[in-house]
Amino acid sequence: MSVTFVQPALYNAAPAAPAASSTRPAQSQREAPGWGTAVGFTTASLAACHSRSVRSKRSTRRAKESRTRTVNPANNEAEDPRDFPKPSCIDQTDNYREGEALSRKLLSLKGAESKTVAIIGGGLSGLACAKYLVDAGHKPIVLEARDCLGGKVSAWKDKDGDWIETGLHIFFGAYPNMMNLFSELDIEDRLQWKRHQMIFAMQELPGEFTTFDFLEGIPAPFNFGLSILLNQKMLTLPEKLQTAPALLPMLVEGQKFIDLQDELSVFNFMEKYGMPDRINTEVFIAMAKALDFIDPEKLSMTVVLTAMNRFLNETDGLQMAFIDGNQTQRLCEPLKQYIEARGGKVLCDKPIASIETNADGSVSSFLLRDGEHIVADEYVSSVPCDIIKRILPRAWSTDPFFRQIDELEGIPVINIHLWFDRKLLNVNHLCFSRSPLLSVYADMSTCCKEYEDQDKSMLELVFAPCSPIAGGSVNWMGKSDEEIIQATMKEMERLFPTEIGPQLPDGGAKLVKHAVVKVPRSVYAAIPGRNKFRPSQETPIKNFTLAGDWTSQKFLGSMEGAVLAGKLAAEVVACKAAGEPTKGLKKIDPSILKKKDEFVPKDPMGVKGKTPIAFGGGEVLGSNFEQKLNDQEAVLLEA
Ligand SMILES: Cc1cc2nc3c(=O)[nH]c(=O)nc-3n(C[C@H](O)[C@H](O)[C@H](O)COP(=O)(O)OP(=O)(O)OC[C@H]3O[C@@H](n4cnc5c(N)ncnc54)[C@H](O)[C@@H]3O)c2cc1C
Repeated sequence: MSVTFVQPALYNAAPAAPAASSTRPAQSQREAPGWGTAVGFTTASLAACHSRSVRSKRSTRRAKESRTRTVNPANNEAEDPRDFPKPSCIDQTDNYREGEALSRKLLSLKGAESKTVAIIGGGLSGLACAKYLVDAGHKPIVLEARDCLGGKVSAWKDKDGDWIETGLHIFFGAYPNMMNLFSELDIEDRLQWKRHQMIFAMQELPGEFTTFDFLEGIPAPFNFGLSILLNQKMLTLPEKLQTAPALLPMLVEGQKFIDLQDELSVFNFMEKYGMPDRINTEVFIAMAKALDFIDPEKLSMTVVLTAMNRFLNETDGLQMAFIDGNQTQRLCEPLKQYIEARGGKVLCDKPIASIETNADGSVSSFLLRDGEHIVADEYVSSVPCDIIKRILPRAWSTDPFFRQIDELEGIPVINIHLWFDRKLLNVNHLCFSRSPLLSVYADMSTCCKEYEDQDKSMLELVFAPCSPIAGGSVNWMGKSDEEIIQATMKEMERLFPTEIGPQLPDGGAKLVKHAVVKVPRSVYAAIPGRNKFRPSQETPIKNFTLAGDWTSQKFLGSMEGAVLAGKLAAEVVACKAAGEPTKGLKKIDPSILKKKDEFVPKDPMGVKGKTPIAFGGGEVLGSNFEQKLNDQEAVLLEA
């Protein structure tokens, strides 16, 4: 199945006029799948596309009638963007049931002595931890440094009143703890589910796209296998068949095999299993950039296999959803309300300056920058790995458990917003750009209710890899917004060849505004050999627990990983309070233990400044970017 969005009649169509009322139907209005026809669809070449086929005339008429510039990539016809119902199998998986059981366990622990728990960080992990602690009958207080909640999912308004997001965020069917959370908060209707499909830009054919389509009614793993087999554009049949033997052990041995591959990069793994190079250029580059914002030569194979394993084992695992608006309000706010309605507190503008310790190494208080000491029974940190290193108390600085964190660091990424003067031809879904500079992008004016605009497109794009640390050749962190936008627009000309570019009769669509959000330290860099250094939530300090997407849990550095890590941290605290056994400390790798005698006590360097990047977030740095980055981590400016 290969498709093209390039319908000349549609390019020439004037931007759609606003509809009298919202054209978005109710979520329950499921579209007839029509996959049978999609399977047999052959891509029109760019040239053929320019001949006015019956199909394109019909499409044009339909587009005008429906006043939309959105096309269904399965048949290239104009369609009203619509959401799909919650996939029927996402709550039927072992992982979902496991998540549900953990939620029940936390509720069942209620009744033990209620503890006060101070949590550093109001990102998803800290908020999830607090949510499950109130479920278990405790009194958490979340201390967030910034003026808004969410950390890497935070959003804020610019001077024009437009929302700026730290990142374009996609939810997968294979996010069991996140799905449980949405259900427990009773906000499942905020997820806008899209067609069960993956859409890839064709590298050699500007403006053309191809898809992996998941046929309804076909269970996992056959739906994934079939989606790849039916795609005629990305790999030849022999290449597809050559891939199977390498993936077979993953299916047979499961997580054990996956964990063992952590020492190998995607490249090394391909070499070892004789996988054809084109798997890398056609599929793995797109996956690596989307999963960890880095190139496959840098990425641990465990990451790719973990994702594939979930998607292969869960029928709706790869179905994607957008949240219906900015996450600070649409996801973090209901979490805050839930926590506060049950006796907890969520406070912003409360940066922690240091973790104070007693003589026995336990935590005595969290010291806020304003001098206030927060004293609690239990303490949790949910800050990113780069931040905990800066505030690690001297008393813990020689402990191998904490020193293993030195082996982890966040990867830089850039999130871009582009506002155009017109509605571009678009799909109601995420697209894998497969371009050298970009990872995924989406037209948010179509995909997300809060940003809906029938006249003008607003694209959100993830720019990766954006530095040599991530496998890129240029350090884009050290470039100006103008340079980044210029490079992005060149890529846009390739993705939208008949709508964007100076060669077009009217000069093409005009970029009216942009926002470049730099996130110098995003998710931990999942380079080979890192998994063994991810610490358990439980620590050797009796009243201190760790959370955060980078701590040890099976769902990578992701929103799902952040929620699960927060939930596991809540489990540690609640079990200890109830006198129940915990899972214990994760074994420390011998390579760290070997260096034990070399560790010398050191004072924490502290967190400098109060900008979002100081706390591991993202911001529009603007013209003063060099100074601002230099103030934080000069290394990020080094080419
Ligand atoms: C561009 C981009 C795109 C992404 N896309 C996806 C996606 O599509 N799907 C997906 O699953 N994941 C995605 N992610 C990853 C996801 O956002 C993260 O994995 C997740 O949000 C991390 O949550 P967290 O709570 O562990 O950490 P954070 O969100 O970093 O939260 C940590 C919090 O601690 C606070 N803090 C730090 N220091 C202090 C201090 N001294 N005192 C008090 N508070 C402090 C911070 O301000 C922050 O709020 C994306 C990330 C980025 C950057």
